Amino acid sequence: MEKIGFIGLGRMGKPMAANLARKGFALVVLDLNPVAVGELVELGASAGSSVAQIARDCSIVVTMLPSSVEVEALALGADGIFVNAKPGSVLLDMSTIDPLATDRLQAEAVKHGLSVVDAPVGRLAEHADRGESLFMVGASNADFARVRPLLDAMGTTVYHCGGVGSGGRTKLVNNYVAVTLCQVNAEALALSQRFGLDITKTLQVLYGTSANNGQLRMNFPNKVLAGDTSPGFTIDLAHKDMSLIVTAAHAARVPMPVAAAVHESFSLARASDYGGIDFSGIADVICDLARIDKPRTPAGWMVGQA
Ligand code: NAD
Repeated sequence: MEKIGFIGLGRMGKPMAANLARKGFALVVLDLNPVAVGELVELGASAGSSVAQIARDCSIVVTMLPSSVEVEALALGADGIFVNAKPGSVLLDMSTIDPLATDRLQAEAVKHGLSVVDAPVGRLAEHADRGESLFMVGASNADFARVRPLLDAMGTTVYHCGGVGSGGRTKLVNNYVAVTLCQVNAEALALSQRFGLDITKTLQVLYGTSANNGQLRMNFPNKVLAGDTSPGFTIDLAHKDMSLIVTAAHAARVPMPVAAAVHESFSLARASDYGGIDFSGIADVICDLARIDKPRTPAGWMVGQA
């Protein structure tokens, strides 16, 4: 059985690694946070001593790190993954990073006889907890087949989008829509609150028309509308993704004025110390700015109820 290294046990990486451990994969884990490592050891994983040791011992190394900075540092560092990995090994990066960084990683990997698969993760953190994530994968056919058992153990839906780099590019397209929907919902709910409308009636109407959307349906009811703004997916990470999206759009000469506006709205939220809350909490940010009561549904209210 291939030994799997897993680096980055945060809000997403921890449940993903846990699903691998529970399903019997031979796992070696690493994170700056020893508590997260301890939780994986309880599930049968072994604690890695360093990036170098994981790269030497594991033929597939998964990274689930915040951004391109961390992934490039760990992969390309002087005692990092690429200089230590055995030829034929695969870096399976599941973080959301700059696709140009993925291209650079792949070019460097080839020089070491290695390869890269980019497989960023769709859906919410709660889906990762339940092993119900969606993965969009950029890989050669052979590497896709090799990592597929891992993806099937962590999620329910896997799309092979094309060659290396196509997973991350698909993810940017997806997150442009998801983060922008948060912003649009936030503005709409603030207006509803200002009008003094019954929030449950407003939601009923939105859920019943073409105004309905995935964020309003899947994320808002359990998070900001229920008064739970613990992340989930932080405003900081949503801002990072909007930065990637705006930069990619500039480079590709695609005009995305709405993306630029949403990016700056999330900049404003971070400047007001909201960076660590769930991205649905952008609704609270807009309401705070306008001195409007935050949108909250009554305790126990469920989607579809009056
Ligand atoms: P997180 O901040 O909760 O976790 C990142 C983890 O990486 C932390 O545990 C941190 O200690 C660890 N880490 C950072 N630098 C490290 C290093 N040098 N060595 C070892 N460990 C290191 O972030 P997250 O929410 O788990 O997101 C991870 C990635 O997945 C991001 O790129 C994010 O955009 C993407 N993503 C997140 C969600 C979500 O809902 N949270 C959904 C899809 C995709």
